[in-house]
Amino acid sequence: MSAPLTILGTGMAGLGLARQLRARGSTRPITLITADSGDDYSKPLLSTGFAKGVSPQGLVSRTALEVADALQAVVRTHTRVDAIDTRAAELVLGAERLAYGELVIATGAAPRPPFDIPDSLAGRAFTINDLDDYRAFHAALTALERPGRVAIIGAGLVGCEYANDLRAGGHEVTMIAPEHTPLARLLPEPLGRALGEAFAAIGIELELGRGLEALQGEGANVALSLDDGQSLEADLILIATGLVPRHELARQAGLEAGSEGIHTDRFLRTSMPGIHALGDVACVDGINAMYVQPLQASAKALAATLDGSPTAVSYGPWPVLVKTPACPVVALPPRRSPARWRVEGEGADLAALAEDAEGQLMGFALTGRCVRRKVELARAAPALLV
Ligand code: FAD
Repeated sequence: MSAPLTILGTGMAGLGLARQLRARGSTRPITLITADSGDDYSKPLLSTGFAKGVSPQGLVSRTALEVADALQAVVRTHTRVDAIDTRAAELVLGAERLAYGELVIATGAAPRPPFDIPDSLAGRAFTINDLDDYRAFHAALTALERPGRVAIIGAGLVGCEYANDLRAGGHEVTMIAPEHTPLARLLPEPLGRALGEAFAAIGIELELGRGLEALQGEGANVALSLDDGQSLEADLILIATGLVPRHELARQAGLEAGSEGIHTDRFLRTSMPGIHALGDVACVDGINAMYVQPLQASAKALAATLDGSPTAVSYGPWPVLVKTPACPVVALPPRRSPARWRVEGEGADLAALAEDAEGQLMGFALTGRCVRRKVELARAAPALLV
């Protein structure tokens, strides 16, 4: 039998790897460790729950106990790993030390608020990056006993999805961001404008091109001051200003890692023998994609490797589907700046093709009815990691 395997993290990456190993028939002992409840859920569904009125428990597909049973694994929940001692091959969990045989780090990415949240806003300012966050935000919204006024800071993928979802769930939503159009990192300006117009049409207030200057609790309200002198009030604040890979444990243990994640090769090997990484925390051969398809491909390849068949991972030309039903969006961002963006279509139905100097397709962005072109364009686009 192979050496026991310890997987740090029970998100889609950690659980996906354990599942792939069992699907291959591996009987190797597996221990999964997580700082959270260990419940199995699909993180992408967090930003679709308010429109459908789904309770946090309704998002759980299997409890940690059911996961342990199904995977024939030990699952240690609410257990934070404080350090990795690579010399002793041990994890430090408070006063406890836990030996590992082989280790896989799948600690995901953490929200990156650009400012300190004042104590006066405890229970009113949130990030939602896992099910426990969703539980806390859901409880605060439900406690209002009326539609909430939610100010979302950030207009990236997560901010846009929650804005659309909360609005569809009957809440008042204001979106604040310094960019002039939503999803500015994924969409060229005309497509971002189309998304912004669709948001405005369903009643989302857009305060774009403006920064947040101050934030404080005033009685039951949160008072927000913007850098153009405007003041706003909300019940709750949702901060969606990006995620950074949780690479600190790895760095402190001497593994090669930076703000882009833990460096791995195509076999998901870190710079330390016997330690692999995958998911949002891993920067695989220079790419940290931070979405589901790459981590699923990584889990499959790593399961094969750990099961005795070394397998390099490759990523296809996989576009991101943004869950904004007010104006559907699909994007495959080019890896380098394109020579030009060619924009076709009209109204909200737009296709933007990123081309190099020779007219080769490098990536694309689609809105409205043009999202139907995703398969045709993905076939012509370059793979993310060949
Ligand atoms: P995580 O799910 O973050 O799991 C990390 C795990 O590590 C957790 O179990 C955590 O408790 C544990 N952990 C961390 N540090 C420690 C520690 N010190 N000790 C013990 N345990 C620790 N992608 C798509 O492809 N399509 C989508 O539509 C999509 N929608 C999304 C919507 C939202 C709102 C968000 C936030 C993301 C979305 N994504 C989407 C991205 C996708 O969900 C992530 O890429 C994926 O879930 C990351 O999984 P992970 O396992 O790497 O990390």
